[in-house]
Amino acid sequence: HAKDRSGDGIRFYEPAMDRLRQQRMDLERDLQRALAHHEFVLFYQPVLNVDSNRIVGVEALIRWQHPTRGLLAPGAFIPAAESMGLIYDIGIWTLDAACRQATAWPRHIVVSVNVSAAQFRHDGLIESVAGALRRSGLDACRLELEVTETAMIDDVPRAARILRRLRDMGVQIALDDFGTGYSSLSFLNSLPFTRIKIDRSFVRNLGDGSGDGAAIVRAITGLCSSLNVIATAEGVETREQFDYLRRVNCPEIQGYFISRPCPAADIQPLLDQTD
Ligand code: C2E
Ligand code: MG
Ligand code: MG
Ligand code: MG
Repeated sequence: HAKDRSGDGIRFYEPAMDRLRQQRMDLERDLQRALAHHEFVLFYQPVLNVDSNRIVGVEALIRWQHPTRGLLAPGAFIPAAESMGLIYDIGIWTLDAACRQATAWPRHIVVSVNVSAAQFRHDGLIESVAGALRRSGLDACRLELEVTETAMIDDVPRAARILRRLRDMGVQIALDDFGTGYSSLSFLNSLPFTRIKIDRSFVRNLGDGSGDGAAIVRAITGLCSSLNVIATAEGVETREQFDYLRRVNCPEIQGYFISRPCPAADIQPLLDQTD
């Protein structure tokens, strides 16, 4: 700290808010560079079909291989990328990379790409999706977009139009983190989802099957089966959670119990084994 005092007096008196603002500016400058320098990578996490005991899909989860800070999770940079408008270019990169990767996998494997609220509000989304499919040559039915209720609540008629166009192209649509947002039933009915992902907060609280988490998971699973939508339980970490979900006929499972998200090279053997 003596160094701070001697060299640069102003820095020493800098209030905490200014330091935060400086960190923010550094992050924004770094993010701009990251795209150009190919510092983003996709990790992939398999989704298991419980009945067949086969991997049926893989979710793409972005990471940032930062030159000095190491491998960063999306929570550390996606919010900043959204507020600076860089999320659109990152989204195009992600779609391209995921679709290209999926062409190397068995044909029954669906790749899921997360679309944040800001991306969903942007008019270029459909064109980005069409472009990624065209450039990679991936069959549209092998791409799934994951959207959240938050992204659609402001303007449900617009959301319905966009999802309908994507469905007409053949793309699948998952409602991500279900149960944490508005969880409106009319939502489920009026929008063309192919899959509902049960948020991991409910899975975490499954316990012995007698508590609230279990009741909610049972209810969502039953609802999905009546609506003909596939339910996927997220964040399954233990044998107990897995067994409970199988007992209540939850068709798909994702979580550390099956596999952590990992680089494409590590996913490949899991897919070949079940093909
Ligand atoms: P999400 O789409 O709900 O993804 C699931 C998150 O749960 C991932 O965190 C995953 O690593 C983590 N997870 C998976 N299984 C387990 C488990 O058994 N236990 C626990 N505790 N966690 C588990 P991650 O990779 O940090 O991603 C966080 C969020 O960032 C994602 O939530 C998604 O909303 C967003 N995200 C990830 N990749 C992208 C992307 O390419 N674009 C955009 N816009 N958002 C992304
Ligand atoms: Mg997701
Ligand atoms: Mg989720
Ligand atoms: Mg989430």
